[in-house]
Amino acid sequence: MCEKKSEWREKLVYDPKNGFLSLSEEDRAGMERYAEDYKKFLDNSKTERKCVDYAIELAEQRGFREYHRGMALQAGDKVYFNNRGKAIMLAVIGEKSLAEGANIGAAHTDAPRLDLKPRPLYEDSEMAFLKTHYYGGIRKYQWPTVPLELHGVVVLRDGSVVNVDVGDKPEDPQFIICDLLPHLGRAQSQKPLGEAIAAENLNLLVGSEPLADEEGKDLVKLQVLKWLYEKYGITEEDFISAEISAVPAGHARDIGFDRSLIAAYGHDDRVCSYAELAALFDVEKPEKTAVCIFADKEEIGSDGVSGMKSAAFDTFMEDLCEGQGVSLRACYEKSFCLSADVTAAYDPAFADVFEKRNSAFINYGIGLCKYTGSGGKGGASDASAEVVGLVRKLFNENGVVWQMAELGKIDAGGGGTVAKFMAERNIDTLDAGVPVLSMHAPYETVSKLDCYMTYKGMKAIFEKR
Ligand code: MN
Ligand code: MN
Repeated sequence: MCEKKSEWREKLVYDPKNGFLSLSEEDRAGMERYAEDYKKFLDNSKTERKCVDYAIELAEQRGFREYHRGMALQAGDKVYFNNRGKAIMLAVIGEKSLAEGANIGAAHTDAPRLDLKPRPLYEDSEMAFLKTHYYGGIRKYQWPTVPLELHGVVVLRDGSVVNVDVGDKPEDPQFIICDLLPHLGRAQSQKPLGEAIAAENLNLLVGSEPLADEEGKDLVKLQVLKWLYEKYGITEEDFISAEISAVPAGHARDIGFDRSLIAAYGHDDRVCSYAELAALFDVEKPEKTAVCIFADKEEIGSDGVSGMKSAAFDTFMEDLCEGQGVSLRACYEKSFCLSADVTAAYDPAFADVFEKRNSAFINYGIGLCKYTGSGGKGGASDASAEVVGLVRKLFNENGVVWQMAELGKIDAGGGGTVAKFMAERNIDTLDAGVPVLSMHAPYETVSKLDCYMTYKGMKAIFEKR
């Protein structure tokens, strides 16, 4: 009697389990190796520009060549196209014609941060500060009193480009935004969380010593300018043609006594970017052409020349298609895209914004997200049952631990990804990615198992779809 009952249960009931309960020794070893490589990627890739540079370095070591329009390509050839140093597309040419479609992984490498304003530097009360303009969805109260690094480029008056990187090396100084002491914080503590720290107060403290051999005002600011000039050749006007970002300092670290988690800045969405890249590196001669995209600007709407809405992607794909005498539209309609982006991991501390039956859990694998959006799927591409079915089948057949995910309770908020911009191109697209704890915070947390399963999932798509 009892046995019969459990038979029905197993046959009929969907009962997802923690991925560790079925993790093979081989997968465990693979996961550990993968986590080390991923942490290295994070530490080398604190901005989208650095993600592109590091991806090129890794890709060239693996035989990828820079793509030029008209280049003759054969099955198994590996190419990349660098879109202005801020986004990149890599492809491994398939055995079949692009008329059969491509398998695409699209993730983004920009992450929430504080960009310097065009006129950032000022002095107040004999301290020098840099004013910032936040980029993407941040919770402003999380950024004061966190050590910060600066990374970016400055285009000087003569057009030459200088790289600025301060704060990453052990001997480097770092920067900080100050907050109020609790002793004087009575009024501030009464404010709603979203208003306690104003955006215009997110100013980096960058100096306090006045330039002694000068007269007049703003001598601390002048001292900072002198230091910048001596180190980089930068003058104050040069900030106008610069892109410098303040990002959390420090490196990716294992979390937990069991080291099962990783905390770092920028998991969203470098965790999926790296998964696609690592999966593409494993692909030798795929049936269908495999394409990996690092998109920029997702956190501010995917606009701009390096965002997923940009024709840069279509141009790259059309160039590949032309080389085979295939029209782009014929390629797109048979293509598939995994929009690889993170999802919210269920957090028991904030249970009231999650719907537990449809939430992604840490260590339950890559989260498939049929739709994102807000207010009744608004703004979501909402993948079809067929598309979800295809991915589910592929993952089941290839040992990928996966789960279903919704981004929190209906009407609690919402969000989007690049999925809809791929779907608008007439490409079947499904969102899937790693569940993240404290997403968009200076330090986000993910599980190693979920990272590894996202890589395995992407590999299954590149090799088997
Ligand atoms: Mn994202
Ligand atoms: Mn995001």
